[in-house]
Amino acid sequence: MDKTELLARIQDLDLMIHEVTDPASKGQEEGLGFAVIGLERLKEARRKLEEQVDRRSLSLYERVRSKYGRAVVPFQGKLCLGCFMTVPTSTLSRRKEGDELLLCENCGRILYWL
Ligand SMILES: [Zn+2]
Repeated sequence: MDKTELLARIQDLDLMIHEVTDPASKGQEEGLGFAVIGLERLKEARRKLEEQVDRRSLSLYERVRSKYGRAVVPFQGKLCLGCFMTVPTSTLSRRKEGDELLLCENCGRILYWL
């Protein structure tokens, strides 16, 4: 699993955690007990993923997430699906396979290939 995929999975968990902890979400309807157990499992799974990502990437993820809600977005046909701007070819060619994160130069979101 590469770094982008790890961050995408962390994001999935964060969205689920948000759903469980958000009083307005339907998670609460299933009973508080269930929600609490679910939350602990989600947090545990997130911790395990976090251990596999370096601090720098993780803090970048947190920063973008607090700004947009979603930090990792797909890009398709050279288009960032977060801000719908074209990602320059130079940016794409700079990415080192499986190592460097690919960032949108316009909005700063982390991009993954669809
Ligand atoms: Zn963008």
